[in-house]
Amino acid sequence: MEYQKPKGTVDILPGQSEIWEKIELNARETFHLYGYHGIRTPIFEDYNVFARNVGDTSDIVTKEMYDFNDKGNRHIALRPEGTAGTVRAYVENKLYGPEYSKPYKVYYMGPMFRYERPQSGRQRQFNQIGVEALNTESPQVDVEVISMAMNLFKKLGIKNIKLVINSLGDSESRDNYRKALINYLEPYFNELSEDSQSRLYKNPLRVLDSKDEKDQEIIKNAPSILDYLNEYSADYFEKVKELLTELNITFEVDYRMVRGLDYYTHTIFEIMSDSNAFGNKYTTVCAGGRYNGLISQLGGPDEGGIGFGMGVERLILLLNEENPDFITNNKIDLFLVSADSLGDNLAFIIVDKLRKKGIYAEKSYINSKVKTQIKEAIRKNAKYYAVIGKNECESKAIEIKESNKDNVEKVNIAELVQNPHDFLH
Ligand code: ATP
Ligand code: MG
Repeated sequence: MEYQKPKGTVDILPGQSEIWEKIELNARETFHLYGYHGIRTPIFEDYNVFARNVGDTSDIVTKEMYDFNDKGNRHIALRPEGTAGTVRAYVENKLYGPEYSKPYKVYYMGPMFRYERPQSGRQRQFNQIGVEALNTESPQVDVEVISMAMNLFKKLGIKNIKLVINSLGDSESRDNYRKALINYLEPYFNELSEDSQSRLYKNPLRVLDSKDEKDQEIIKNAPSILDYLNEYSADYFEKVKELLTELNITFEVDYRMVRGLDYYTHTIFEIMSDSNAFGNKYTTVCAGGRYNGLISQLGGPDEGGIGFGMGVERLILLLNEENPDFITNNKIDLFLVSADSLGDNLAFIIVDKLRKKGIYAEKSYINSKVKTQIKEAIRKNAKYYAVIGKNECESKAIEIKESNKDNVEKVNIAELVQNPHDFLH
């Protein structure tokens, strides 16, 4: 084939797009209950929105970004995630001003881009549904964000998930831990993978996230960040756990969990599943956390924020496995079968009128035999169908037949068009 989609991208076709729309609808409904509003920021941003002057050392920023110079020689990047762009918009539009609510709560849905090796649940263009609660530092806000994510899973009918949390503390706690971790890892330097060696001094916390088996052996006995939290950070984390318990949200603490981006502080969390959909291996579908340094790094006030990103492709894999009944097809209410050209023309007008009344009406457009059209109606799962030809045009009435049943009802066309719900249940 001459033209093909780029590697790591997919076409979402009818049959699949319905599940996307229904997920998005459920997400919006959930977010609205918590006072979140939609935000739509550009899909590409200045490269520095993601890299920032501090030099983000994460793989996402250093290895996976789609970046290029545009015709005006600006260094541009396709967004690899939603938070940095949202915070950029928050700062640029001065949404931290006194006239705006605190926290400033937004959600977004859309494509993200990362140059990765494509595999199941991993693409180069993928989609996230995300939320951000900006400018309030409070364990209640953290728990509200987590609770909202959990409730969305519940609403989607997905039970087989677990919530894992950890705390990365504030910058003082992180600095202390950083030193302890370097001290622990240094004696193993030569045994560490190349990636981990290069990360050891730049960002040792990333070593904890290494997928290398030997690294993992070494990491097993590494000190825990939770032992290095200062009083404020430790109290904050205690409060988060307390509030989760009060909301009856079950969680695990994994003190080795870190996140793929450098800006996280305090609470971080992942919602994962070992569903069959992921070969029974724990896979993260939703991930997020608090980022108290990010807003100021992007030129805003020294305020905190917390959010999450949910991978929609992985969510759909999970949904298909855990709640296959999620999609119930929208059935055609009435299918009009044309017996001749006069009937076909009237059918064309009737379906238009019925649709204006909120009826899912359909007809055939291909001039086939009556029998073939009836088969089409039944194949498309129409609830009712009716044949319309010269006779029906003259009598101004049609016989509505319930598919796969013997019920037939003769109805006046004008009455049907006027009050269709009386005839099509
Ligand atoms: P992973 O460790 O799987 O690479 P990550 O830490 O890079 O994940 P985040 O940046 O936290 O992922 O993104 C949040 C969610 O977005 C992930 O849990 C996942 O569901 C989804 N996601 C991330 N990268 C991809 C991708 N390349 N393709 C599909 N979904 C993705
Ligand atoms: Mg990744």
